[in-house]
Amino acid sequence: MKLIKSCGACAAQLPDLGAKQCSNCKTGYCGRSCQVQHWREGGHDKLCKKIKKAGGAEQYYADKKCAEAIALAVEECADDTKGQTCFICTEALHRKTKEGLVRGCACRGTAGFVHVSCLAEQAKIWVAEAEENNLGNDALYERFRRWDTCSLCEQEYFGVVLCALGWACWRTYVGRPDGDEIQCHAINLLGNGLSAADRLEDELSAREAELSTLRRLGGTEAEVLGVLGNLAITYSALGRPEALQMARDVYNGYLRLFGEENKETLLGANNYAKSLIDLRRFGEARSLLCKTLPVAQSVLGDNKDLTLWMRWNYAEALYKDEGATFDDLSEAVDTLAKTAQTARRVLGRSHPDAVSIKQSMQNAFAVLRAMASASEDPAVRLAIALHTALCCEAVPELDDLRDLGFNGEAARRVVALRAKLAATPAGATVDADASAVRA
Ligand SMILES: [Zn+2]
Ligand SMILES: [Zn+2]
Ligand SMILES: [Zn+2]
Ligand SMILES: [Zn+2]
Repeated sequence: MKLIKSCGACAAQLPDLGAKQCSNCKTGYCGRSCQVQHWREGGHDKLCKKIKKAGGAEQYYADKKCAEAIALAVEECADDTKGQTCFICTEALHRKTKEGLVRGCACRGTAGFVHVSCLAEQAKIWVAEAEENNLGNDALYERFRRWDTCSLCEQEYFGVVLCALGWACWRTYVGRPDGDEIQCHAINLLGNGLSAADRLEDELSAREAELSTLRRLGGTEAEVLGVLGNLAITYSALGRPEALQMARDVYNGYLRLFGEENKETLLGANNYAKSLIDLRRFGEARSLLCKTLPVAQSVLGDNKDLTLWMRWNYAEALYKDEGATFDDLSEAVDTLAKTAQTARRVLGRSHPDAVSIKQSMQNAFAVLRAMASASEDPAVRLAIALHTALCCEAVPELDDLRDLGFNGEAARRVVALRAKLAATPAGATVDADASAVRA
């Protein structure tokens, strides 16, 4: 499987198969003149030996990208990891690589600090054992999850940490025979890591390499759908027009293969809805999610990440719509407040999804507040004030009130109003002054 797709000298696109390459180190070129020029003037005469020694152009590239990704992850985690030690090797600096620590899962307190290289070493041994003992594909896949899942909190790693692990995994298995089972898992993990770190162009190369290998080696329909689904998300993020049709085809493909209660089908539905939202086709996104979200809630439960994403998308499709009514906006704020709370509890406060859902809640609330202040009708103002108090019940911390735009005195008034509401029998009217809770 190849990730380097451009000429080593002029960066022109190379064909998938049969490109001209340096016979020594396998660096690819679009033609002989580029190769000669690169040797004479591009410095390849000095690098060729080094690349060959590292294991060839693909391995050299993976090693380099991995070192960069680890350095970036360590830097981004620096504040969090200060004064801590690795839970695997118990050192602060890695003895061999001298790299610093990272943390990118739901571990809290002093737990979960680790070196990417220590995690990689452990995962590699774990997978090798399964292979040596012929434990079968399911056990192998189970063990492979060590590459992206924290063994302490059982949560998948996220952000730049997942990206560093993706490269560490890829550099470990890049030299395997083309299309080898583990190599396919590795390119998939690399794609997920690049996606988590928003490296869209690199992600595209990884997803396309995975897809072309799978097609060449005759992967099953479900396997191909899995890669196409990921590719559709990448296309959508890059604003490519074919994304929507692809996402729809993947959803329909899963629906036909596995039925509506399958997790892949639900994931396909969510991705299709996301593509619709990206194109501002909010009504279609809502009706798709109205149909599929209750299924996800009953099959997966409320706390699963996929259910969280679906609720999040549903609320986005509500409040981003210019035609949204007061009821739509209320529902969006309520949904996001509750989803943000669940995300914090399940994924951890610093998880990018938890942070983004909270941001969505603030955005939705800003639209709701704009509607309130534009309204002449005191009844609407009161309704929004009450709604605010109720919604704050789902986000009970003062910090959250501040996030919603309530400061100092205003926040205290909301808390007081909430207490008043709680003490009021159902059906009774509450004497609440809307201006009391305006931010
Ligand atoms: Zn060239
Ligand atoms: Zn060479
Ligand atoms: Zn360590
Ligand atoms: Zn953890």
